[in-house]
Amino acid sequence: MAEQIDESNSEVHSDQEQQTLPIFQKFEKLSNKVTNLRKEHVALCNEVKSITDESFPGSEVLYALQGLGEAHETLKKKYQEECQMLKNRCHLECSERRRLYNQVIELKGNIKVFCRCRLLNHDEIAKGSTSVVDFDSTQDNELKITGPDSSKKQFKFDHIFRPEDSQEAVFAQTSPLVVSVLDGFNVCIFAYGQTGTGKTFTMEGTAENWGVNYRTLEELFRVSDERSDIMRYQLFVSMLEVYNEKIKDLLVEDADQPAKKLEIKQSAEGTQEVPRLSQVPVHKTDDVWELLKSGSRVRSVGSTNANELSSRSHCLLRVTVLGENLVNGQRTRSHLWLVDLAGSERVGKIEVEGERLKESQFINKSLSALGDVISALASKTAHIPYRNSKLTHILQSSLGGDCKTLMFVQISPSSADLGETICSLNFASRVRGVEHGPACKQ
Ligand code: ADP
Ligand code: MG
Repeated sequence: MAEQIDESNSEVHSDQEQQTLPIFQKFEKLSNKVTNLRKEHVALCNEVKSITDESFPGSEVLYALQGLGEAHETLKKKYQEECQMLKNRCHLECSERRRLYNQVIELKGNIKVFCRCRLLNHDEIAKGSTSVVDFDSTQDNELKITGPDSSKKQFKFDHIFRPEDSQEAVFAQTSPLVVSVLDGFNVCIFAYGQTGTGKTFTMEGTAENWGVNYRTLEELFRVSDERSDIMRYQLFVSMLEVYNEKIKDLLVEDADQPAKKLEIKQSAEGTQEVPRLSQVPVHKTDDVWELLKSGSRVRSVGSTNANELSSRSHCLLRVTVLGENLVNGQRTRSHLWLVDLAGSERVGKIEVEGERLKESQFINKSLSALGDVISALASKTAHIPYRNSKLTHILQSSLGGDCKTLMFVQISPSSADLGETICSLNFASRVRGVEHGPACKQ
């Protein structure tokens, strides 16, 4: 390298040489610097070339970089414009979807009934019971019940779930309905049927086999996340029980404290509210399972047999959704009710007395009131008798109008339960707006 000139030989150089040497050394140094700069320059050009895939003359490197910056700004602006356009289109599509949905419910009604039949259990097999339910091999919305005289009675619903159908399969049919609460619709889902037919299994499920309630919240979180560019949602959960026409808050902090006495009040906007009912904000699925379990625990306090009480009361889970449209600022508040109803079995007046008879009368009254309200809605009667029970009164703002209703009618396949099964299927046909024979006497 020129910078490492051997100065030990300097004495042999002439005077002239001695004068020119420092200049020569300086020149050498400068020339090295230029070579290094050129190398850096070429490396920089190559880097820019690899980014833009175009070659630039050395002096234009700076302009090229500037150009890149400008191109980036233009792209950013274009992206923002496209994003705004998509948001506007989405808003228009939401309004159009709602308008079309309202047209469809004018034609088809917004009450659906699903039937779910469980398996014959070991006890029933041991006692010699057989299955009285025949499923149509080609349709998933028809079944036949075989009577003691071998006569067959056909029932038709919106969907029929067979014993082998999983919780996932049930939720797959239910999820479009629950998700519509995020579009501002009020939704009610009921599980109706005799005790032991799987109402709690369908709604609550088990830790290994979650039911509609937990899956619903999971789906609501997933869809809210998916829509986070356009909508902001807040979700709250409340849980209450209606037992003997009394309302009990199930999400209390101290389960040993006496239950708050809750009443239904009409708000200034004309909706039915339950003042002082706990509302717990939920943000993620982890929050939900424990919350639902704690509600179930409070439900059984004070009862000698948890299952006994749970079959004699209605359990209501309410999900409140506050929505804010980030495009037009429009706000919505909607409710989704998930209801595990009291057992619908008829209790003989001779066999029961006292507390048990009173319970039965309250259950009969509220279930008949529910049947009356839904069938009045299905047949578009002018007067809807909401006030005949606490259950229908609480749900008044979420039943009727453009609210959506789904009833699961749960049945046992056992020949021993034939009478109750026919009653449940008749009840479900009635709420669907199809009469199927005389109502069962309670
Ligand atoms: P209900 O709430 O109507 O009284 P449950 O949900 O408690 O009935 O169901 C009674 C029993 O049958 C429970 O042990 C439940 O796990 C079981 N069961 C009900 N339906 C099903 C089903 N579809 N698959 C598996 N087990 C079921
Ligand atoms: Mg139950």
